[in-house]
Amino acid sequence: MNFPDFEFHIEGKKILRERKKAFYLSLLLPGLGQLYQKRWISGISFLLIFLFPFYYLYLIGFEINYGSVTLVLAQLLLYVIQALDARKGAKRETSPCEDFCPANVNVPTFMSYSSIGDFRKAFGSFMTRAPFPFTLGEICPAQCETKCGVLPERPLRIREVHREFGRRVLEEIEIIEREPVFPVVDRKVAVIGGGAAGLTVAYYLASAGVKVDLFEKEGELGGLLNLIPDFKLDKALLRREIEFITSFKNISVFLNSEIRSKLEGYDFIVIATGAQKAKKLDIPIKGSPEILYPLSFLKTPPKLKAKRVVIIGAGDTAFDVARLTVRNGGEALVFYRGEAKNVKAQKKEVNTAVREGVRIYTNCQPELVEGNKIKFSCGEVEFDYLLPAIGFEKDRRIFKTFGVSGEKLFENGVFVVGDSLNGVSSVIEAVRDGRAAAYEILKKLGLWDRAWFMVDFYRPKPEKTSGKNLFIVSEASLCQHCGMKIKS
Ligand code: SF4
Repeated sequence: MNFPDFEFHIEGKKILRERKKAFYLSLLLPGLGQLYQKRWISGISFLLIFLFPFYYLYLIGFEINYGSVTLVLAQLLLYVIQALDARKGAKRETSPCEDFCPANVNVPTFMSYSSIGDFRKAFGSFMTRAPFPFTLGEICPAQCETKCGVLPERPLRIREVHREFGRRVLEEIEIIEREPVFPVVDRKVAVIGGGAAGLTVAYYLASAGVKVDLFEKEGELGGLLNLIPDFKLDKALLRREIEFITSFKNISVFLNSEIRSKLEGYDFIVIATGAQKAKKLDIPIKGSPEILYPLSFLKTPPKLKAKRVVIIGAGDTAFDVARLTVRNGGEALVFYRGEAKNVKAQKKEVNTAVREGVRIYTNCQPELVEGNKIKFSCGEVEFDYLLPAIGFEKDRRIFKTFGVSGEKLFENGVFVVGDSLNGVSSVIEAVRDGRAAAYEILKKLGLWDRAWFMVDFYRPKPEKTSGKNLFIVSEASLCQHCGMKIKS
């Protein structure tokens, strides 16, 4: 089959089958599972540590007393630990970039494939951790890069590497409906919300053979990703990425479907509706000023030519609005109550906005709106549109429908993931939560041996690079795989 992630699904299936065998062997005799996995040190250690105390009790003569009972209980605990260890398999010391990526994307692995010009495998290996190599390559804040110290003058451009192989692969693959590698089972999960978290849950569950019904209240999947301005995210490729994520035949997508009553007939429900309710200004407002909110503004911007938009807040959304305003011929003034060093938006984003003509004022607390004027602690300004971008809240109606608090990952058969649980987070954090929820669901369904995406597909640094003289190849070949060691 011609899918870039297919090999990883097959490989994951094989590895998990082996782990299942190792698990059962370790139940027969502690350490045997590890020996089967060729983890000689762990296997022999577990075997000896388990058997020796019994031999000792045998030598001194077994008597029921505190000492012997404690020893037997300790051995039982060891028995459980070693069985779980066999189930998990060998561990690897990860690199700082992987540790600092919220979804622990396997950076060295995709760098290895990229450096030999195998972009399809780079793409497939990325999908084992997060199903958005291209989109995240466009918009991720790239926390991983803050920990990359390979070059003295700058970090490796990790994000750009996965954006580029994401773009190449999405442009060339044919996306058709496909069968998952694991046979489809009669287990069904409803995912409510087709944003980054919901799509992630759907992708991993469907790839493991679970039937998924994905409900989205809007006319297209993507949630807040659709509202990222076109100058930051190529929407045509976003659509292809989503099409690829939902290409399993066991995912049914229901658009324009707002859920207002409890759903029946599912093993689990996943709420991933996000946090899309804009916070309101809590200062006195007199007259009838033109107050707009970020989501409707980004969805259908008003006429902005020669208009002044005053934006309150300094997160990424505030700067999306400001840049869109300037690009549409308007004037954008961003006011932030804190100090410049505390601005939440990505630094790169702020610098670009300033270069494009956005004006930023810090230490300005809003105090009063009167007609088309707003008074800040730092002065007064007139506006055509006032736009508070001071955060989002969860819409709690869906929690009431399902009788959950919305504060716990799992409650009454319902999983709450992404922004629906944590409030506003980045896309990569939503992806991390979606993947974790998919794993929990598989465990609860008794299908842990299908969680192929929990397998570590580490690929060592190749000896030679190959491929044309491309940015991706040369950048990826600089990766030094810091801290890579396989532990027995
Ligand atoms: S998703 Fe973001 S944090 Fe993770 S590897 Fe890519 S750029 Fe880095």
